[in-house]
Parts: sequence; structure tokens; C-alpha cells
Amino acid sequence: TKNVAVLTSGGDAPGMNACIRAIVLACERAGYKIFGYEHGYNGLLHQEYRLLNNKVVHNLIQRGGTLLHSARCLEFKSEESARLAAANLEKLHIDALLVIGGDGSFRGAAHLGRFWKGQIIGLPGTIDNDISGTDATIGYYTAIETAVDSIDKVRDTADAFERIFLVEVMGRHSGFLGLNAALASASDYVILPELFVSEDKTVKDIVLQLNERREQKRKNISYIIVLTENLWPGGITALAERLTTETRSEVRPVILGHVQRGGSPVSQDRLLAVKLGCYAVSLIAKGSTGVMVGEQNGEAVEVPLEATWTQPKLLEKLSVETLETLMNNRYT
Ligand code: ATP
Repeated sequence: TKNVAVLTSGGDAPGMNACIRAIVLACERAGYKIFGYEHGYNGLLHQEYRLLNNKVVHNLIQRGGTLLHSARCLEFKSEESARLAAANLEKLHIDALLVIGGDGSFRGAAHLGRFWKGQIIGLPGTIDNDISGTDATIGYYTAIETAVDSIDKVRDTADAFERIFLVEVMGRHSGFLGLNAALASASDYVILPELFVSEDKTVKDIVLQLNERREQKRKNISYIIVLTENLWPGGITALAERLTTETRSEVRPVILGHVQRGGSPVSQDRLLAVKLGCYAVSLIAKGSTGVMVGEQNGEAVEVPLEATWTQPKLLEKLSVETLETLMNNRYT
């Protein structure tokens, strides 16, 4: 038999619980003992863990957040911390550690791998979908859903008052969430890191589009712009103020914020979570280590941890083409 441990790290994402459940059940089937470390890498440093079993994960698949709690752990970057974590894993006789998290968490996993000889397998859990080697990440689809639901609501009030709204979505430094939330909510313009040319060009584009509409006498409609976080110099307020001046209409900023991280996972995220969870456990017997599991074109894959942050991840081609057709945003 083997001892397996799992932890969740970095920003939490809907579907992390579904993934923990699948890992626990698959481990039980395989006859492995399964430990859950709490609070991300902090749990490894402080030997904070609990034994998991099918009873603990009952009725868990639909819950947002993470049963094991997540955390950032800056001190984990030091060699001393990685050595301490390795010693703690050895004390518990852990054979394999599964890390559910984003690219930062995978850097942490690779760092640990330099000091610990056990197997390390990553599972992509982040709403940003900014991890190479997998088409989607656990939590991404739910975050799109939440953003779309909020933008639909903004649209109702924007329409009622014939206003321009600027909506900021998450994504860290990637446009996946912004692009797809904008398409699915029929937003009028989207500002994404991958498309961004300059502040002046963006403002010019928007003013041009609004003027065209004014000329067509399409006055009585709203206009919604989606903006990815961390992109606009000076932030959303600076952009809203500039657009208010240049469009001669009041532009209202709305930051969706952390609501995008929460909620019950949609079925696409649950399915990805259970598939990748089971696949990761199946790799333990095979001896895999230093890899992340992902899904590419419907197939489960293993990719080296390092490739998840060194390889560029391109926006979905079809979404970009649709954007060009429907929203006049050029992909450059
Ligand atoms: P998300 O992008 O969804 O927020 P993430 O996993 O990228 O998730 P980070 O805060 O970047 O979130 O990383 C999570 C944790 O991983 C950090 O708090 C730290 O403990 C660890 N970590 C990140 N980078 C490194 C590194 N270079 N070396 C060691 N550990 C790291």
C-alpha cells in the first residue's frame, strides 16, 4: 500500500472540492491511505493534516471553496522551508503528494521536488485558466458563468439608463475569463492583455464605435466594456474617468472581484475535477513525478511541471475569431 497526501494552494477555485473527493475515492479504491494537508504549503511546514475518507467527502462535489483551505505561503520559497516540508512528508511516510493549484503552486511543487524524493503530481485549479498543458483549469468554467451572470445584471440597469458600463473581471495576467465572459454576455468591447496595443488605441476604438452608433441613431442602448484586471495603467477608475471625458457620457466602473472565485462549480468544472483527480491517482502506481495532469482535446495528459509556466498559453482560437467578427476587437 501507499500513503498519499493532497493539498490545495494559491487562489481557491470552484471544483477544488470535487477534485479532492475524486482523489480520496480513487485512493480508497487503490488501497492507498490518504492525508489532507491544510492551508496549502503552510500545512506542510507545520505538519497540519487530517486523514480523509469517503465519509469526509460525502456531499462535497457541489461545494465551492476548499475543504482543506488554501493559502499563500511566501516562506515556502526558501530552501530551508522545502527541506522542512520534505522532512515532514518523510515522517508521515508519504509516497506521493498531489498539489491542486495554479502556476505559483506548481513552482512551489517543483521547488519541493529538489529536496524530497517522493512523487509530486500537480492538478490545475484556478479560475484564470493561465496554465499551459491543459485546455481548461478546474474553476474556469464556473468563473465565466459567474461573470456572465453579473454582466447580464449590469446590462439590465445599463439598458434602463442608456449608460456605458466598464466591468472588471479577474484573470490575473490572462484574457481567458475576460474574452469568454464578454462573448457570452454580448458585451460591446473587451480589453485583454493578449490584445492590448496601447491606452490611446483602446480609447480611440471605443470612442469610434460609440460615435458610429450615435450616427446610426442607436441612442437608446447601453454599452458594456469588459476589462481584465491588472492591465490598465492607473486601474479601472482612471479608465472610467478618461472614457467619461472622451465619450462625453458618464462611464460607470464595476469591479466583480472575489465573487468570481466562489459558488458551486458548474458541471464542466466538476467533470474536469473528477477526471483529472482519478487520472492523477492512476499515475501513482506508474511512478510518475514532477508532472501536472491536464486535459487536451478530451484526452488526459501528463506535462512536466516546468512546462506549465514556461510555455505560452494562447487564447482559444475560435473565441478570438468570434470576437473579431462580433465585437470589432482586432487580435494583434
Ligand atoms: P492562482 O494563480 O490561482 O492565485 P497560484 O498557485 O498561482 O494560484 P500563488 O500565490 O502564485 O498562487 O502561489 C501559491 C503558493 O505557491 C505561494 O504562496 C507559495 O507558497 C508557493 N510558491 C509560489 N511560487 C513559488 C516559488 N517560486 N518557489 C516556491 N514556492 C512558490
